Amino acid sequence: MNQLKIAIQKSGRLSEDSLALFKECGIKFSDGQRKLKSQALNFPIEFLFFRDDDIPGYVEDGVADLGILGQNVFREAGKDILEIKTLGFSKCRMSLAIPKAINYTGLNYFEGKYIATSYPSILTKFLNENNISAEVHKISGSVEIAPSIGLADGILDIVSTGSTLISNGLKEVETILHSEAILVSNKHLNDDKKELITKLLFRINAVLSGKNHKYVLMNAPNDKLDDILAVLPGMRSPTVLPLAEKGWSSIHSVLSEDTFWNNIEKLRAAGAEGLLVVPIEKMIR
Ligand code: ATP
Ligand code: ZN
Repeated sequence: MNQLKIAIQKSGRLSEDSLALFKECGIKFSDGQRKLKSQALNFPIEFLFFRDDDIPGYVEDGVADLGILGQNVFREAGKDILEIKTLGFSKCRMSLAIPKAINYTGLNYFEGKYIATSYPSILTKFLNENNISAEVHKISGSVEIAPSIGLADGILDIVSTGSTLISNGLKEVETILHSEAILVSNKHLNDDKKELITKLLFRINAVLSGKNHKYVLMNAPNDKLDDILAVLPGMRSPTVLPLAEKGWSSIHSVLSEDTFWNNIEKLRAAGAEGLLVVPIEKMIR
């Protein structure tokens, strides 16, 4: 029987959200022990749990058909695998940082300097593209302490809030990459597996689209309807229902998360009242 094997981070910043995504896709499995693998109960997929750094290699070799990992690790690994979907979680950036007392005047600062990182390949590529010659030191773990112990003039590391940098006396000076979790696949899958991936992606898209939208209900006097409808996109068009009170309507629509607050302000300005905002579990276009 054909089934998919997907490599997931065993424990770390990707694990919970990766497993939550499959649960939201209606795929049931037991993750109680989280040993090496877990078979899904109602979808032909098996979860394999690894360190995230090992996932690109296992997907390339076909140990797993699919994997979930950060774009940072995907880029660094340079394996011959496909990025098939961005998943919207584990968002972070990769930045160059230097001791905060140093006056930073631009990328040229790094010319002839020592830079510590766990991502030598991404760093080397970035330096080459920008014609900077610097020494790249590969360190695994606690890169941020390298400058204070005299091991490097700067670092390239993952940043989310920047608090780790600050507590190590560093400042962020250049962002070189934005990263989020992605779904990757092996390049040589048979047709049955490709069909299963299509089914899985249909579910993932429905879940992610739902997360990116909100269902909005509001009331308005009928003479304000035109102005309000002009603000609303909706999937086809907004639903307009008469209220019990004469001359008033209830309007239902779907708003995108990106422009949500902006549109809410416009709706209120156009005369909408009593707005209700409801999360959408799944959205199928
Ligand atoms: P492993 O033991 O599997 O090798 P790790 O220590 O390399 O784990 P984690 O710290 O769990 O990795 O991070 C996994 C991924 O999550 C990173 O490669 C990155 O894509 C993303 N990530 C890292 N730090 C953050 C953060 N602060 N916020 C959001 N996402 C992050
Ligand atoms: Zn790792």
